[in-house]
Amino acid sequence: MMKQLKLAAKGDRTKTIVSARERRIGDGFVIIAGPCSVESEEQLIETAWVVKEAGGDFLRGGVFKPRTSPYAFQGLGLKGLKIMEKARTLTGLPIITEVLDTRDVSWVSEYADILQIGARNMQNFSLLKEVGKTRRPVMLKRGMNSTIEEWLNCAEYILNEGNPHVFLCERGIRSFETYTRNTLDLSAVPAIRELTHLPIIVDPSHGTGRLSLIQPMSLAAVAAGADGLMVEVHPNPPTALSDKDQALAPAQFASLVKKVRSLAIFMEEIQ
Ligand code: PEP
Ligand code: MN
Repeated sequence: MMKQLKLAAKGDRTKTIVSARERRIGDGFVIIAGPCSVESEEQLIETAWVVKEAGGDFLRGGVFKPRTSPYAFQGLGLKGLKIMEKARTLTGLPIITEVLDTRDVSWVSEYADILQIGARNMQNFSLLKEVGKTRRPVMLKRGMNSTIEEWLNCAEYILNEGNPHVFLCERGIRSFETYTRNTLDLSAVPAIRELTHLPIIVDPSHGTGRLSLIQPMSLAAVAAGADGLMVEVHPNPPTALSDKDQALAPAQFASLVKKVRSLAIFMEEIQ
């Protein structure tokens, strides 16, 4: 297994640390948070301050949304990126956003500090090669129907183009279970540790799709040894234009950050 991995394999390599605007992923515990979609300047800036004040490290926000229906909100595109840029200027939080199309990679990477490859595009090999040609950090989410081996081969595509700034995000896989949106595979965290030097974070928002499960799975992700979390936060969840059922309200996010940070400190002590 994993024989084809020349660059992603752990081998004798020391753990990779991915840096974006002086913040480091793979060295300490990082929290990436923000709305599923950038909806308006007011909504994003308000969320950015919530993330900053609660102690988050990066601001997320989708401006190109991979929606199941073509009639659902598709994102604000360039206008959304300009809003993200403004939020970064105001709060100092580096920004991460998903890129869906090879034609958008070079101009989106002029705005974003980290490029996200979403679950649906994990095996979009042209897109992987394109982000591999940039030197922007890339967060590669696990495909919902993908094995760990397939996922690491996708990381290999990016590394093979010369971009070493790659980290992984477990976001749940499809199973027969329907109570949760996906089945969050936390065993992937220690498995990834054994197999590769790349950092790995966990997204319990898409991983469970249920508000009440986000905190327990976040804490479990810390205990499993993850390098960080990505969670969705919205100033007024019932009005969110996408993923409203899994969006944390500001107070819920602040309380989550506190618990996660305490557990992360404890985990470091017992290592
Ligand atoms: C997202 O993070 O905005 C997203 C669409 O997640 P995923 O690709 O994991 O479904
Ligand atoms: Mn979402």
